[in-house]
Amino acid sequence: MRPALCALLAVFLGCSTPQDARRYSHSAEEQGDLRVGQFTSSDWSFETSSFWLEGPEGLILIDTQMLPSALRKKIRFAKQVTGKDVELAIVLHPNPDRFNGTEWLRSEGIPVVTSEQVRDLIAGVHEKWSPLLFERYRMSGYPRTLVLPDSFGSSSRELSAAGLTVKVHLLGAGCSPAHVVIEWEGHLFVGDLVAQGSHGWFENGRIDEWLLRLDELRALQPKWIHPGHGFTGGPELLDQQAEYLRTVAEAVAAERQGPSTQGALARAAERVSRRYPDHRAPFFLPTLLRAEWMRQLSGLATGLLPVAPISSSLAEGAVSGPNVVPGGDRTR
Ligand SMILES: [Zn+2]
Repeated sequence: MRPALCALLAVFLGCSTPQDARRYSHSAEEQGDLRVGQFTSSDWSFETSSFWLEGPEGLILIDTQMLPSALRKKIRFAKQVTGKDVELAIVLHPNPDRFNGTEWLRSEGIPVVTSEQVRDLIAGVHEKWSPLLFERYRMSGYPRTLVLPDSFGSSSRELSAAGLTVKVHLLGAGCSPAHVVIEWEGHLFVGDLVAQGSHGWFENGRIDEWLLRLDELRALQPKWIHPGHGFTGGPELLDQQAEYLRTVAEAVAAERQGPSTQGALARAAERVSRRYPDHRAPFFLPTLLRAEWMRQLSGLATGLLPVAPISSSLAEGAVSGPNVVPGGDRTR
């Protein structure tokens, strides 16, 4: 394990829960609308949350999981709960834990869609991650060849399937360079724009823009936020995410005044970890810190980030995180 990661884990494992880490809400079911179902994959595939909406004629899936093995579990579970089949899947943003299930769904004849902007970014992200992650996750069906979702267009609109109509909002850069957010009867499905009690997967986004996205989501006045990692909650999750991003930006700003970049990033990570000692998936944090460092350094936007150290940190975290247990999505 890399020394920086060891240090991070030690910080994570050694601290207690701060008062403001308490949860306001615990599950998609708690909000009382049983038409919304949540499936969370095991630690092995980053505890990725994805959802279904139950309509009179079937299900709409929101996101497709990183591993097809997890996706199949999700669909079996949804069928068990609702007795219904999937009519449509929607991908929220160009991260592998959102789009990787596309190939399998399409092979089952299920349509998968996303925005034109998100679709255009998927090939580059797949090319970056698949050489590293395919070997690690081949037994779980990690897609070697890329199958893209279809585009539903390049502007916000309504989509209908399974007897339901949802609003799809197209947003600019956040944790990714482009996002789709789904709004349905007070529910917002946001992917990794919000992670509850967890760090999230950052892939060429921007913190300053991300904060604007959270403002835009707040303006929609949602009752429920369904995040990409962690539990469903109310609008307070937007505030918690904004506070997290400001903490990251401040930690970087404080450490940028020192001389050593390498040591400074580790110290910035420690600052964030002290504030969020119980956040899960700490292996996601270095990527975000490095990107924020580059952004502050340039004083401008930058999506051009070093790739190798990011890859190794994430891949290592996937197998050596603090709570790795054999998951049901390890095999086909
Ligand atoms: Zn994610």
